[in-house]
Amino acid sequence: MAMFAGIALTSCNKGGMDSQNPFMSEYKTPYGVPPFDKITNADYLPAFKAGIKQQQEEIAAIVKNPEAPTFENTILAMENSGEILDKVSNVFFNITESNSTDEIQAIADSVAPLLSKNSDDIYLNADLYKRVKAIYDNKDNLNLTEEQKMLVDKINRNFVRGGANLAADKQERFRQVNAELSLQELQFGKNLLKENADYKLVIDNKDDLVGLPESVIMSAAEQAKADSMPGKWVFTLDKPSMIPFLQYSEKRDLREKIYMAYATRCNHPNEYNNNPVITKILSLSLEKARLLGFPSAADYILDNTMAKKPENVYNLLNKIWTPALKKAKEEAADMQKIIDKEGGKFKLASWDWWYYSEKVRKAKYDLNEEMLRPYFELDNVKKGIFYTAKRLYGLQFVAKPDLPKYDPEAEAYEVQDSTGKLLAILYFDYFPRASKKGGAWCTNFRPEKIVNGKRVAPIVSIVTNFTRPAGNQPALLNFDEVSTLFHEFGHAMHAMLSQVTYASLSGTNVPRDFVELPSQFDENWASEPEVLNVYAKNYKTGEVIPTELVEKLKKSGTFNQGFATVEYLAASYLDMDFYTDTALANLDVQKFEKASMDKIGLIPEILPRYRSTYFQHIFGGGYSAGYYSYIWADVLVADAFQAFKETGDIFNQKEANLFRHCILEKGGTEDAMTMYKNFRGKEPSIEPLLKARGLE
Ligand SMILES: [Zn+2]
Repeated sequence: MAMFAGIALTSCNKGGMDSQNPFMSEYKTPYGVPPFDKITNADYLPAFKAGIKQQQEEIAAIVKNPEAPTFENTILAMENSGEILDKVSNVFFNITESNSTDEIQAIADSVAPLLSKNSDDIYLNADLYKRVKAIYDNKDNLNLTEEQKMLVDKINRNFVRGGANLAADKQERFRQVNAELSLQELQFGKNLLKENADYKLVIDNKDDLVGLPESVIMSAAEQAKADSMPGKWVFTLDKPSMIPFLQYSEKRDLREKIYMAYATRCNHPNEYNNNPVITKILSLSLEKARLLGFPSAADYILDNTMAKKPENVYNLLNKIWTPALKKAKEEAADMQKIIDKEGGKFKLASWDWWYYSEKVRKAKYDLNEEMLRPYFELDNVKKGIFYTAKRLYGLQFVAKPDLPKYDPEAEAYEVQDSTGKLLAILYFDYFPRASKKGGAWCTNFRPEKIVNGKRVAPIVSIVTNFTRPAGNQPALLNFDEVSTLFHEFGHAMHAMLSQVTYASLSGTNVPRDFVELPSQFDENWASEPEVLNVYAKNYKTGEVIPTELVEKLKKSGTFNQGFATVEYLAASYLDMDFYTDTALANLDVQKFEKASMDKIGLIPEILPRYRSTYFQHIFGGGYSAGYYSYIWADVLVADAFQAFKETGDIFNQKEANLFRHCILEKGGTEDAMTMYKNFRGKEPSIEPLLKARGLE
């Protein structure tokens, strides 16, 4: 690690303190997008250092101000501080996720403690806090707007949660804990990226491809070529490669091999073992919470969410667990029947689930994913997403192929409202790379805000790991990937439609268990026949998806939902159990995981969606004690979609306008439940969710 840091430092000359560093001056690009073509790795560290220095000076000026604290001279001045730091962070932390290299990771290592210290220097600054608190205590008498009050609340809360009320000796320890925690979380992610990329299932015997569809074989052959093994077939642990293998390979031993490689990532006795990293992360998190007077890490984390307390999370999980487990057991029994009928003479195992569930789907609904793929060409799916956004909110999309990009495969759009006014810039980056983290996410390179009455358009980015084009065949998605694109686009709309004054409150800056509402909400349109008819067209013939296929898709909507819900909930329990645990002294991560899963009665045929050593969400992704957020939001989502269903029109303009104005435009400027009730006229109920998943 130190060696790479050395390289990063010695190559700094060019980007040094001179004006050539792109982060240090205004971006002279269309729309002010980051000048990706001009940014080099050598620019990051100097910009971080300069950005921190700038912010420290601005903070010092706030503290030294002889005037009494006001919203403008303290809260707003803080909100506007650190411009260079924001600029470099907005680029760098996206690149670490989507285009990482050893050099980038080394820079991240050097930067993490600097940022952690900078943040502590601000939130542990007693004189600064005194000014903030004076405003907070008096906020109702200052003639502030509701949004300004929310900003005061948020900044004050950041101080309290950042240790401002701690005694000096405890503050010192608090700083150490924060610094160490940020490094351990980075380590977790690095180990995972490494082990994930290192594994390859190499097939050199054609017979071992039995059962696989032609398109899957073709992709594996291309992967082999890319890995300098022409003539062979390579499968990786990236989902677009592994999942089709699990679904279709008739070689049970090979299914086991790749699945176990996936399920044991970072759980081997080597340098990438994440068990000791987890132990450290958990004990540091607990120590931090205790310093602030909370009984557990989960209590501290949840204090800042809609759920508020661990018991509220467990209550929700418990309500759904029992019906979901029952359904999953029925699904397993259906599959065992097929195994027995085929004379299998073995018990269904976790690596069999995808293979036999495909058989059940075929038998029950006469449907498999390969029948759908030709209708889900990536470009067509994108058209469906744009169509939906246009019908609901009047959005228009103009391709901008000439904008600077951080990877040649990325693409850019200008997003306009119905009158042609600029709303946002939107990037897409679709396919897996060794330098990219797994999964899918939406992020931004610049948040929305309003400065002197003028709205700054956000620059938003959607990053996914979808099935690549193979040979002369375009990228053909499975339905899961289609839903994912709608999902991430829902986050993007939350960011793009934002009409908020302060960046800290704009777009997706909402409680973590509220942020998945716009995204999961948007998924609903993917499978609506009215929308499918527009976008699901055969990539060869242009023929619209046949009605009977749409019917089958609709009928199979609750198919395998027992499994999907159980593996998700199991991971949510595991997360909550880790972060509510207070007896961590002799923690054995693997034993803890097993005990946690035994307690809820998880069946051996299903593993939690993430096992501990690759649970990036909770050990480095900002979702610690927060993986439950998806189902929490899903209660709101199912209830919200019900509002459209009740009108009989999935494009009902009154509901769409309400959703836009009460939620999508509001960012975090109001209390989350208040926003929801403004839209729906009532609190959400859980019934629509149970119904949607077939768990009634
Ligand atoms: Zn999401």
